[in-house]
Amino acid sequence: MFLHKTPIILRWLYPSLIWKRKTDLKEIYLTFDDGPIPMVTPWVLDILRKWNAKATFFCVGENISKHPEIFSRVISEGHAVGNHTHNHLNGWKTPLVDYFKNCLQADEAIGSEYSENRLFRPPYGRITSKQIKALKNWQIVMWDVLPGDFSSKHSAEEVLQKAIINSSEGSIVVFHDNLKSFDKLKEVLPAYLEHFTEQGYKFKAL
Ligand SMILES: [Zn+2]
Repeated sequence: MFLHKTPIILRWLYPSLIWKRKTDLKEIYLTFDDGPIPMVTPWVLDILRKWNAKATFFCVGENISKHPEIFSRVISEGHAVGNHTHNHLNGWKTPLVDYFKNCLQADEAIGSEYSENRLFRPPYGRITSKQIKALKNWQIVMWDVLPGDFSSKHSAEEVLQKAIINSSEGSIVVFHDNLKSFDKLKEVLPAYLEHFTEQGYKFKAL
């Protein structure tokens, strides 16, 4: 179970986390979690380039170590990168010290030259108050739109409709450059980019 739109109460409860950018401009912040991987990330980069869109990639450290050339391409094409832990840990099931160490390990894989803005997104959106405190030197980025490209219960058409209906100025939208989501992403991402580009929106990196 998941919600396509983040309830406003959650944003009030955790004001130190970033849920959405405050702006009146037609700007959307696309984010891609779980890469970089050869089967999906290069395809995403090609589509983003086609639409002149920038995005933010929340990378799993382990994947950066395995596929440094794809990570380099993400950087060289002007996208932002963030930390998604080294091994995609679930914060609710991981002791504080282990969680923190794993984040530092991913930070090392990212490299200090690319981690200066220190963006972090907790895998599954699951993070405890103590972990939030421990990561005080990071900007923790959540989202206001979760189209659900990973969901086996929704068709690509439904995912696209949810993504479009819930997005607005300053939205932070979660997609995934992982294998589980790729079938849907292939249909949803180009149509989403086309829809909002026609409406005059720009896609920016965080
Ligand atoms: Zn993830």
